[in-house]
Amino acid sequence: MKSSIDFKMARQTLLDLVEPVKTEHIELSACTGRVLAEAITAAENVPPFDRSPYDGYAFRAADSVNASKETPVTLKILEEVPAGAVPTKECVAGTATKILTGAPIPEGADAVIMYERTEFTCETVTIFAPVKSGDNIVYAGEDVKCGAILTEAGGIIDAGTIGTLASQGIEKPLVYKVPKIGIISTGNEVIEVGSELIPGKIYNSNRYTLTAAVREAGCEPVYLGIAGDDSEGIAKLLIQGLTECDAILTTGGVSVGDYDMTPAAMELAGVEILFRGVDLKPGMACAYGIKDGRLVCGLSGNPASALINYYAVAQPAFKKLTGLANPIPEEIEVALNNGFNKKSPGTRLLRGTLDLSQGEARMSLPKEQGNVMLNSIIGCNMMAIVPAGSGSVEAGTKLKGFLL
Ligand code: AMP
Ligand code: MG
Repeated sequence: MKSSIDFKMARQTLLDLVEPVKTEHIELSACTGRVLAEAITAAENVPPFDRSPYDGYAFRAADSVNASKETPVTLKILEEVPAGAVPTKECVAGTATKILTGAPIPEGADAVIMYERTEFTCETVTIFAPVKSGDNIVYAGEDVKCGAILTEAGGIIDAGTIGTLASQGIEKPLVYKVPKIGIISTGNEVIEVGSELIPGKIYNSNRYTLTAAVREAGCEPVYLGIAGDDSEGIAKLLIQGLTECDAILTTGGVSVGDYDMTPAAMELAGVEILFRGVDLKPGMACAYGIKDGRLVCGLSGNPASALINYYAVAQPAFKKLTGLANPIPEEIEVALNNGFNKKSPGTRLLRGTLDLSQGEARMSLPKEQGNVMLNSIIGCNMMAIVPAGSGSVEAGTKLKGFLL
């Protein structure tokens, strides 16, 4: 029994409607974790000149053709070139240049021999076997050719990317701005952490859960406040958020009860409703809409439902806002370490942790999988998908899942 739209279809609907935010140039030192907005091409060859990968002697390979233990060849040393210096003398027949790792190959030389393979004095070096032309030379551009694409746009800037940018002398790379995601809590019973917990009230935990979840996605949370269960109050915060933010998350009031006012508030705020409810447990209740390219993601007030629906449906769209080229989480197959003994008439997401200790991808489930208990999601790093129509799932069952 599928009551509402497939969560992957819901996710794709949102992805198709949003575009990455604008871009800016920022200092290299501030780039970690941001999304690169331009492909980086090599401005120079690496290495920039033919160089020696070893300490040894550079010379003409032709001088060594007849070299053997019985008939060694002795060459006159012209000079010594350490890394950072440049050769001043051309290697002609019968001569060699003492060269150190990283130093440029002198004019005329076409091979390097490691010093361990030679006998040498300050004036001469003796070679006991032929060396081929090109041996032990790293040619200019061998590591990276000028003009080659080093990395494409749309990736998160990590240590390797930063180093690559620096190696190209790029001081201020072009990155995507950080999308701003407005967070609104709704419900007459919801009060802020820090105030006294009076009868009938609960703390606004969703505010903090979603703040963290939005940061995980590379976005900046903007807290807009709590509205009670009245459509005008919620609409007021939505209108404010739509002027300041690139998208909005709300929690509470998305079911069909007398006090569920969020969809009506969306309409009051001029938000076009895209869909209400997805085939997902926990996380079925939701209301998604859009205004002027800005998504309004109305999640359930139930803490676990809200977070699971967020990961499954909303977060990829937020990641697309950040400029990420591949915002949909990759699916992997995992074998369950423990079973789950409830039926799944609709699609169910089981939260858990990836376990690689047995040499294959496995997943451990916390006992509690309900829509209220949030503490069972602590430390979870993946969700497994139980297809609609499944019975209870035994330990060892293989399921598709995605990493959070
Ligand atoms: P609702 O989605 O409005 O039907 O709320 C479902 C449940 O989530 C109710 O028990 C609410 O009290 C609870 N809830 C609503 N908003 C929050 C919030 N901001 N933080 C924690 N729990 C909430
Ligand atoms: Mg409510």
